[in-house]
Amino acid sequence: MAQMIRPMVAGNWKMNGSRASLDELALMSTGFTPALRQKLDLMICPPATLVLAASQRAVGSGIAIGGQDCHANDAGAHTGDLSAGMLFDAGATAVIVGHSERRADHNESDATVKAKAEAARRNALIAIVCVGETRADREAGKTLAVVRRQLKGSIPDHMTSRDLVVAYEPVWAIGTGLTPTAADVAEVHAMIRQDLRRIVGKEEAEKVRILYGGSVKPSNAKELMSVPNVNGALVGGASLKALDLLGIVAAYA
Ligand code: PEP
Repeated sequence: MAQMIRPMVAGNWKMNGSRASLDELALMSTGFTPALRQKLDLMICPPATLVLAASQRAVGSGIAIGGQDCHANDAGAHTGDLSAGMLFDAGATAVIVGHSERRADHNESDATVKAKAEAARRNALIAIVCVGETRADREAGKTLAVVRRQLKGSIPDHMTSRDLVVAYEPVWAIGTGLTPTAADVAEVHAMIRQDLRRIVGKEEAEKVRILYGGSVKPSNAKELMSVPNVNGALVGGASLKALDLLGIVAAYA
C-alpha cells in the first residue's frame, strides 16, 4: 500500500535567501517538467519574508510553497511570530513544525509542536512534523524510543494523510554530509508507519507521507528514496540551488 503514496520533495531554505533567490525558484519550475509533476509533489519553504513573493512567482509552476514554522495561536500579542493563517493568506499550503533547529534553538517541546500542527490543520495547511534523534541518542541505542516519543507527543490524533506529513530527520545527519544506512532508515520509517497506525488510525497511516531528511543530495537521493516507507525527502542545503534540487527530484524520473 505504502508504495502507492504520491512522493513529496520539500526544500527548506532555512534562514537563507533574498528576493534574488526567487530566480532559483524560476529555474526549479522550468526543470519541474509536466512528466515530473505527474510523479511527485515539489515544495519550497523559503524564509517568511519570501513566502508571498514565492507563492506569486510559483503560480502555474506546480511548485507549492510552505512556511518553516508557525505559532500555535491564530492571532494575538506574540511579537515576531507568524500564525498559520498568515502563512495561508500569503499563499502557503504547508508549514514545517518541530524542525530540530526549532526544537533546539527555541526549546520547543513535543507539546508545542503538537499545538503548532493543530494550528496548521485549523488553517488548512499541511503540517510537516519533524522528528529525529541526536547523535547521543543514537549512540545510546535510543533512536527508536526517542522518535516514538516525539511522534506520540507531536502529532494530534485526528490528523489525516491530507493534512499531515512526517519527516524523519536524524539531527546528526542534518547539514553534516552524513547519512544513516538504508537499513537504518528502513527500520525507523517502518516503526513510524507502525506508530502512525495507533496515532491517526490504520487507514490514514497507510497514506501518510514519511519523508527522510538529512544530507540528501543528488548522489544519494535514489538510494534513500528507494527505501521502503520513504515517500520523499525534506532537503536543506541542496534545496537552495535548482540544479541540486532537480538532481534529487530526478530520483523519481
Ligand atoms: C533540514 O534541515 O531539514 C535538512 C534536511 O538539512 P540538510 O539537507 O542540509 O541536511
